[in-house]
Amino acid sequence: MTLTEKILARAAGKANVQAGDNVWVKADILMTHDVCGPGTIGVFQREFGRNASVWDRNKIVIIPDHYIFTADSKSNRNVDILRDFVKEQGITYFYDVIDDPNGHWVFDSARGQLKRQYGSHYAGVCHTALPQKGHTRPGEILFGTDSHTCMAGAFNEFATGIGNTDAGFVMGTGKLLLKVPETMHFRLEGRLQPGVMAKDVILHCIGEIGFDGATYRAMQFDGPGIADLSMDDRMTIANMAIEAGGKNGIFEFDAQTQASVDQRCQLNGTKASYQPVERDRDEKFVYELTVDLSTLEPIVACHPDPGQRKRAKELNDVKLDRAYIGSCTGGKTSDFLEFARIIRGRRVVIDTFGVPATPETVHDLQSSRWGAQTVWEILVDAGVQMTENASCAACLGGPTDTFGRMNTPLKCISATNRNFPGRMGHKESQVFLASPMTVAASAITGRITDPREFLSGRD
Ligand code: SF4
Repeated sequence: MTLTEKILARAAGKANVQAGDNVWVKADILMTHDVCGPGTIGVFQREFGRNASVWDRNKIVIIPDHYIFTADSKSNRNVDILRDFVKEQGITYFYDVIDDPNGHWVFDSARGQLKRQYGSHYAGVCHTALPQKGHTRPGEILFGTDSHTCMAGAFNEFATGIGNTDAGFVMGTGKLLLKVPETMHFRLEGRLQPGVMAKDVILHCIGEIGFDGATYRAMQFDGPGIADLSMDDRMTIANMAIEAGGKNGIFEFDAQTQASVDQRCQLNGTKASYQPVERDRDEKFVYELTVDLSTLEPIVACHPDPGQRKRAKELNDVKLDRAYIGSCTGGKTSDFLEFARIIRGRRVVIDTFGVPATPETVHDLQSSRWGAQTVWEILVDAGVQMTENASCAACLGGPTDTFGRMNTPLKCISATNRNFPGRMGHKESQVFLASPMTVAASAITGRITDPREFLSGRD
């Protein structure tokens, strides 16, 4: 069996499963957020009864993160709906925007978009927050009401996005009927060269198979090349499995996975035991691709879908209006550090927005010093508009007052993960997906730029 089949077999209580089998699996975690949470709660209450209890109050994780820092009253109200439900059900893990359990969330636009408006429990973008808060464990099943839930596959678990109806059912029963996906095999070899990042790896893979090339399939990443990929790198790659239509993305378990999971579970006092899955000799794959990481170059996925792969250096004549770094995929501390390595000592020439994925990243950037300045100060001095309000922000457009949203038809290079028309706002805007380093280089020149042009003399 493949890694995915092994996890699904175990969760179904079976010795074996194979692609195409329909199996009932037990969930380990159900995650929801402010956009889909209210709908999921509605389905749960309609189907199980207004007074029904959730299946396990310790296994539901609620993370408001999408439409948070907006004056849109309906969006603000969604956070209140989550808080009321959490209180009613005694749910353990709720990363509220405000500290008062009896309060109401209202974004104060008079204070502007840049200064922090959240309380001490807020966790930021759900997929980045889940591992930080100790909710991703090898061998487990994670369902989330969000398509990029597949990001947690970096931790050797089966993680997939589900709709509100399925999530309402999981909320009541802790189970779900799943068809076992076929597995596509991506064997990674070699080491990434300077200027090339994990984002380039996944944009290359999606470019090979197309934006629907993995539809309802598992994308398994393994091989000697993963040893040099950090957990953040693996998260970036697994995150974008869905951009090829994948049911899930999954990585092999290793010492790095173990160290990261153990540290985060201990730090947060979450469940510390887990059972990873290892590779079998008899895995059956429907597709195999070997990627030599050492030969990859900076890649850009052009408008209008993540499969439109080109090398950054081929696109030097594409003039840009905007650059954006943020999201679950591209807003982690490591992403900002690589971005800052290129930006340091230079100035951006187009509007450039920086949205950390989580408050932890805000803290990291404001406390890491490079010489006399913090990384945060270096970015602000270079002209990057940095907000402390960690969230999804303009990654998915959002209400018109969302930080960084494209309200007019602009061309933007972005460290986010999706670029279908209208994704970041205006329907006629164009989004070019790239690594944080490519976004940085392009922000400096105002054209799509290979970041290796700026690397010489830098460590
Ligand atoms: S940052 Fe973007 S891709 Fe990630 S969860 Fe938020 S909206 Fe979705």
